[in-house]
Amino acid sequence: MEAKALMEKAARFHGHICPGLAIGVLAAKHVLEHGYHYSPNEELVAVVENDNCSVDALQVILGTTYGKGNLVHQDYGKNNYYFYDRRTQKGIKLAIKNREFGEKKLTRNEKIQLLLNSKPEDIFNIDEIEFNPPELAQIEESVPCEICGEPTMSSRLMTYNNSDMCIPCYKKLRG
Ligand SMILES: [Zn+2]
Ligand SMILES: [Zn+2]
Repeated sequence: MEAKALMEKAARFHGHICPGLAIGVLAAKHVLEHGYHYSPNEELVAVVENDNCSVDALQVILGTTYGKGNLVHQDYGKNNYYFYDRRTQKGIKLAIKNREFGEKKLTRNEKIQLLLNSKPEDIFNIDEIEFNPPELAQIEESVPCEICGEPTMSSRLMTYNNSDMCIPCYKKLRG
């Protein structure tokens, strides 16, 4: 698919068109053209170091989604994208280049067009990386919090004053 068509698809999901979304489209397009495929299940994993607009493009174009657990956010505030494909045991990293949009001030729309017409290599440093994905999402039993009673994943329960409780209740009690 052309970048423009991918952008339209991403915008239907994301809600608007923006430079961030264009960055995600460009990253997704590049990996699709390099042996990575849309992920109906957890075959492909994306590890992202930001939670900005670009990530929505990955979700809709690559099927690496928050709900399936094959989108992992590390809150580092960097525009780095790692993809691991369990089908091919391959990994790739795209890291955005520190790059100005030339001397002239571009409008938002000009920025989007410039990004969509760029070669991924001009926007990202792209490297093959070792296949080292995060573990598969675990299905875990829920246990009621002893304070509020709400079912809570057992691995997220905190023990305080001999009670197992959810994190919000724990924070409230600890002040
Ligand atoms: Zn946006
Ligand atoms: Zn609770």
